Amino acid sequence: MSDFWEKPITYIKGIGPQKAELLQKELEIFNAGDLLQHYPFRYIDRSKIYLCREISSDLAYVQLSGKITNFRELGEKRAKRLVADFYDTSGKIELVWFRGIQWVSKNIIPGKEYIVFGKPQLFNGHFNIPHPEIEDPELFKIQLVRGVQPVYPTTEKLKARGLESRAIQKLIASLINDPQFFVKEIFPPSVLKDYALISRQAAIKEIHFPSNEEMLAKAQFRIKLEEFFSIQMKMIQLRGTRKQLFKGFKIESVGELFNEFYHKHLPFELTNAQKRVLKEIRSDMGTGKQMNRLVQGDVGSGKTIVAFMSMLMLLDSGFQCCMMVPTEILAQQHFNSLSKLAQSIGIKIDLLTGSVSRKEKNRIYTELESGEIKILVGTHALIEDKVNFQNLGLVVIDEQHRFGVQQRAKLWDKNIIKPHILVMTATPIPRTLAMTVYGDLDTSVIDELPAGRKPIQTAHRNEAHRLRVFGFLKEQIKSGRQVYIVYPLIEESEKLDYNNLMEGYESISRAFPLPEYAISIVHGRMKPEDKDFEMQRFKRGETQIMVATTVIEVGVDVPNASVMVIENSEKFGLAQLHQLRGRVGRGAEQSYCILITGNKVSTEGKKRIETMVRTNNGFEIAEVDLKLRGPGDLEGLRQSGAINLKLADITKDGEILSLARSIAEKIFNQDPNLSSAENQGIREFIKREQRNNIWSRIS
Ligand code: ADP
Ligand code: MG
Repeated sequence: MSDFWEKPITYIKGIGPQKAELLQKELEIFNAGDLLQHYPFRYIDRSKIYLCREISSDLAYVQLSGKITNFRELGEKRAKRLVADFYDTSGKIELVWFRGIQWVSKNIIPGKEYIVFGKPQLFNGHFNIPHPEIEDPELFKIQLVRGVQPVYPTTEKLKARGLESRAIQKLIASLINDPQFFVKEIFPPSVLKDYALISRQAAIKEIHFPSNEEMLAKAQFRIKLEEFFSIQMKMIQLRGTRKQLFKGFKIESVGELFNEFYHKHLPFELTNAQKRVLKEIRSDMGTGKQMNRLVQGDVGSGKTIVAFMSMLMLLDSGFQCCMMVPTEILAQQHFNSLSKLAQSIGIKIDLLTGSVSRKEKNRIYTELESGEIKILVGTHALIEDKVNFQNLGLVVIDEQHRFGVQQRAKLWDKNIIKPHILVMTATPIPRTLAMTVYGDLDTSVIDELPAGRKPIQTAHRNEAHRLRVFGFLKEQIKSGRQVYIVYPLIEESEKLDYNNLMEGYESISRAFPLPEYAISIVHGRMKPEDKDFEMQRFKRGETQIMVATTVIEVGVDVPNASVMVIENSEKFGLAQLHQLRGRVGRGAEQSYCILITGNKVSTEGKKRIETMVRTNNGFEIAEVDLKLRGPGDLEGLRQSGAINLKLADITKDGEILSLARSIAEKIFNQDPNLSSAENQGIREFIKREQRNNIWSRIS
């Protein structure tokens, strides 16, 4: 019986091999189930009849009732068209056809009552309706009851073969009206009841042919829930199996190093959030299972010390640890800050990046294998085959979004027993996204900044304010503070950016002359050692101004810097702006972020700037970012399958997603292998969803 869903598309009358092939190619519709899951992207309300005089440019579509008269052919050759007058009790409007002229003049009977439907267009100060749909009121009665009418996504090629929205609607209608039409329920009755869901079959029917608004809403809810559920169930199972299968190094108790550091060398009191996250990590490590934990924390929330103290837990049991970061500069920065902490309790730490000399590399390789080096910080140089640890116990991955999944997997495999994995994101991720992309990881959130930080004040300025901005910078420098001035870096026009930066640098050098002011400059074209030299000068306070491209985006820590000026800030994405701003406000002083833009800023650019001025909260910013950009270009989503969601949208349907997650969790806790009779529907559903993934079809 359930085979109805699997029936090939050629089962439908009127779909021969050629149309079937086209449907496969254009819309990935292979069988009845695929077609039934080809959902409308919009509905047109056809329950309302407008009057001619009500027509305005606000109306996307109008439906009119009246008579058509006065057919006349105008224009010649390519400009040839058929025009007719349509009138109702309120007035008159013209109908226009450019194609199918013969058919219309033959079939439409002048003076007869018709229902006319279409998109009004303003032409020479009057509205007309090009290519209206015209229906017999007899036929129309059926439509009126239905009220809303679905509009389907289609393609030019399909349209050319007669498969426009209406035709697709008819195909779907023929399936739904088929005596064999049957959609198998996937959820057990308890779930349907607890969450007041309509049946799967009803949902499919209502999504295509809604009885009313309420039923349509229920159908949409149910289908979105199902889509999210499938992903969440997979994620939770993945997490579960990993916990079952992958042993992890068990840390019996916190040892000497940790205790000594905690009691004697902690440079500051930990925030409650930091303590909580450390406890969560500690408890993972006590389970004997491999830890896979994501730590989210806003810029400046203090993730580094959490990483370091986690490392201590493993060092105490004789393991080595490593930290992988995406750029050399960041590796250097992390190395510097971790070194300070490590030195305090005499732990050997090293740095491995692409620019380390061959000789030095060889030394590191040897000392890693002998277990001498306890902590290794580095870039993707860490995953080269030559890198072999004696016993790697923990991998910390910072700024994770820049590493590919495969790169991470390679580190995973460095041991027979997989090391614990701690992923730290520099930029908060919206909750919905985290659930989807990192749904297979356990999550911790550092949702508190160290005490005594003053919120950064952010302002938007343009060229006209430049002198005042420079004046302000001078005041800040006079009072002993330091300043960043950042220029955008867009890869496609690297040269242009470079010129931009150099021009900026020159004008800044003129406005802030030696010997009163000293300026550092750092950009992508410099050698790593030169970059580092300039960074160190700034860090030591020998220069007051740091002019840079976004190479300083992540990780740089100069607590004395109090102003971040971002040039052409409209060109930066929100995540980047937030990261940059996070470079200041690290000390106790009031800090500032000045976003400079040109006078012409796109609507989206304005929205980004407004958001930055309004809030310092990284999670809030991440939400806005997701809404502005949409999920389309977010890394990681493709692998999660969320890109293939048909109806649900992670930027809008967060609540349904949470519900889906909690249903999946509940079911998993009761029946992890989905082996009970009542969960067979779910089991099959998930299998099918996986099989239906377009990637598996292509290969
Ligand atoms: P993140 O990596 O989360 O952006 P960092 O770990 O670089 O943040 O920490 C930011 C700054 O705050 C550093 O200078 C760090 O020494 C300091 N810091 C971290 N935790 C605390 C705390 N509990 N109290 C005071 N300062 C802290
Ligand atoms: Mg950091």
